[in-house]
Amino acid sequence: MTLALYNTLSRRVEPFAPLAPPRVTLYTCGPTVWNYAHIGNFRTFLFEDLLRRYLAYSGYDVFHIMNLTDVDDRTIKAAATAGKRLEEHTAPFIQAFFEDRDYLRMTPAHVYPRATQSVPAMIRLVERLLERGVAYKGDDGSIYFAIAKFPSYGRLSRLDTRELKIGARVASDEYAKDDPRDFALWKKAEPADEQVGAAWDAPFGRGRPGWHLECSAMSLEQIEKCCRAETLDLHAGGVDLIFPHHEDEIAQSEAATGKPFARFWLHGEFLNVRGTKMSKRFGNFLTARDLRDQGVDAAAVRLLFWQTHYRKALDFTDEALAGAGVGVKRLGEFYERVKREAGNGKREGRLAELAAAFETDFRAALDDDLNAPRACAALFELVHEANAALDAGAPGAAAALGVFDRAMQVLDVLPTAKRVDAGLARWIEDRIAARDKARKSKDFKEADRIRAELAGRGVEIEDTPSGTQWRVV
Ligand code: AMP
Ligand code: ZN
Repeated sequence: MTLALYNTLSRRVEPFAPLAPPRVTLYTCGPTVWNYAHIGNFRTFLFEDLLRRYLAYSGYDVFHIMNLTDVDDRTIKAAATAGKRLEEHTAPFIQAFFEDRDYLRMTPAHVYPRATQSVPAMIRLVERLLERGVAYKGDDGSIYFAIAKFPSYGRLSRLDTRELKIGARVASDEYAKDDPRDFALWKKAEPADEQVGAAWDAPFGRGRPGWHLECSAMSLEQIEKCCRAETLDLHAGGVDLIFPHHEDEIAQSEAATGKPFARFWLHGEFLNVRGTKMSKRFGNFLTARDLRDQGVDAAAVRLLFWQTHYRKALDFTDEALAGAGVGVKRLGEFYERVKREAGNGKREGRLAELAAAFETDFRAALDDDLNAPRACAALFELVHEANAALDAGAPGAAAALGVFDRAMQVLDVLPTAKRVDAGLARWIEDRIAARDKARKSKDFKEADRIRAELAGRGVEIEDTPSGTQWRVV
């Protein structure tokens, strides 16, 4: 089996192969940093994290680009309301996004282009579209894309192009699918834009980029830089981005380059609350920091999301999250047990067989359009059967540990306490060495101070005949 993914372009599950293996270029539409991202946003980002990690597990060399939308209708409005300059308003939310990303264990993208820092590329893209006659200046001074000049407009969202409103224009970043109009590439600077510092000079008039233009320009600029390419292997986002955002990205990019913009389009379904999309607008949202402040282990959030396929809607409830927490705890206990047994066990035996069978199922599940629920079911089956085998004294734990560790590289659902961050572990080792030194020179006050310092970060220590043991509680 090889990896197959559901491509929104064809509405089919297709075998995936990158243009220039082993390199895979992946662009994921990043957060709009007008406020904190909610866990609905993070459901999409975590589905993309699973994709990214499974591509790496499958031997691909992924180049991952995630943009930060730091100028658009929403960010400007939010900055104006807060009485701040745009970058002053967005900076703390960018910082918060990175903190939330780390809390949720998302693998960092290779680059995070920011819209406000990519304006020259956007201006060049508009110029190209004007030169090619697919863009025009409206009587309001903004630049629009003429969808009638791009015959395949509507292919991604399966729009009935007979419905196109020829010549009708829309300046807003978001509009409905039943109202396909020429959309703004570049919006003429308004006093409100100037007030927050969201206006740039351009040969075709002072203004600011439209949201769709930003993603086209940033993705094309980054894949040119990293890979001298004009076509992405994968482009992903939530289902609400199919129209107009991704449809418009395709139109702008392909009209400019004459090449396919992205070969695979992947879209994650919504996180809902009682059947309604989680959204700032509806007020039914939770942020990642809310969960962190409640002491929720990020592993539980990840496991909860993996237990529903990314193309199915998921209803968020406290009970489901608590249930995932129980699963995470079970995995942690199993991991500890296998680790203990691995030290004195053989590599061959019943456990090795169970682990090999699991690995086959795990791959088959994820190869099948990232079927994480099936991969998780196989994981819990392994835990169940391997525990029974361990009860019976079966050998092979060392091999099972290797397989389990590899699966965790993808799912990453062990309890945080058992999955100590490498930086924290180094710091703990360093503190323990300092405490040993203090104790040897009979500076017990300093030794106690270091013990308290460790306790302050949740680290318990115990002096044993074989040295000081530590654990994070
Ligand atoms: P935004 O910050 O609004 O640009 O959205 C960031 C990402 O979150 C986009 O890919 C959206 O499609 C996605 N998104 C927004 N709401 C939800 C939700 N309730 N469930 C899943 N994904 C969402
Ligand atoms: Zn985008």
